Amino acid sequence: MVNYMLMIAAELENLTDLQPQGGCDDPNFTYYFKLKCGNCGEVTQKETCVSLNETVPSAKGKSDVHLAQKCKFCSREGTVTMITGRGSPLTQDHAEAGKHAPLMLFDFRGFEPVDFVFGSGWKAESIRGTKFHDIDLSGGEFAEYDEKGECPVMISNLRATFNVAKP
Ligand SMILES: [Zn+2]
Repeated sequence: MVNYMLMIAAELENLTDLQPQGGCDDPNFTYYFKLKCGNCGEVTQKETCVSLNETVPSAKGKSDVHLAQKCKFCSREGTVTMITGRGSPLTQDHAEAGKHAPLMLFDFRGFEPVDFVFGSGWKAESIRGTKFHDIDLSGGEFAEYDEKGECPVMISNLRATFNVAKP
């Protein structure tokens, strides 16, 4: 069993606290990524999606997991379980320093995660206090004008990595 912390980074112009709509442990936020089989190395063709509020019983029947899947190539079974309470928003300080912020911790068994894809359902706040909801990052960036704070806001240069984490 290996835990992976999903780390995200972006350039934030006049914005801070980029995170899922309902916070880092948003039960409805969907994570998209591909799975690499730990046995044969085959990578799934399509992104798989997981969210906290959708669980399935694991094959061994011991506890619920967020995804149970068989490798199409070698039939090895694997599971993905999300571990809450470890994420924090991506702040302006992170962005300025070019640092990543932790978003969600995953326990992968039988698979490794690759290629996280940014989707919709994000929120952020302008440095002048205006809140932006329902941000869709699937196009790779977000640009708006903060009318109340009278400044342009933008999210660009999105990056994500899965780092091996200590349990
Ligand atoms: Zn396989």
